Amino acid sequence: MEDCIFCKIANGEIGSLIYENEYVAAFDDLNPQAPVHSLIVPKKHIENIEALESEDEKYVVEIFKAIKEVAKLKGVSESGYRIISNCGKDAGQTVMHLHFHLLAGKELSDKIL
Ligand code: AMP
Ligand code: ZN
Repeated sequence: MEDCIFCKIANGEIGSLIYENEYVAAFDDLNPQAPVHSLIVPKKHIENIEALESEDEKYVVEIFKAIKEVAKLKGVSESGYRIISNCGKDAGQTVMHLHFHLLAGKELSDKIL
């Protein structure tokens, strides 16, 4: 989608990716809230969880596979990590392209994000 920052990052127009395949991309958050803070996104423009449709099934599966890959790349598979996806206004979603925050690298407080 034109003018969507995460579409531009996911298709390689700007920024740099830490992981990608046909369906998903991952990159580090611009404003990290933990020693490891990466974002995993579908390459298709989907606003958030509420906008997911049954035809998007493959993206959902690939997102969770990518989460495990990114955790491995960052060396936190064993120590653990937190996954957060803000959906809509009350959750404070600021970028309207589905994304999953992967936070790790220290013991996370309850207040993170
Ligand atoms: P959310 O509040 O869940 O919508 O989170 C959006 C996240 O995207 C925030 O953690 C931002 O720091 C991050 N972010 C915004 N723009 C960029 C960018 N250009 N590159 C990487 N991360 C970004
Ligand atoms: Zn997008």
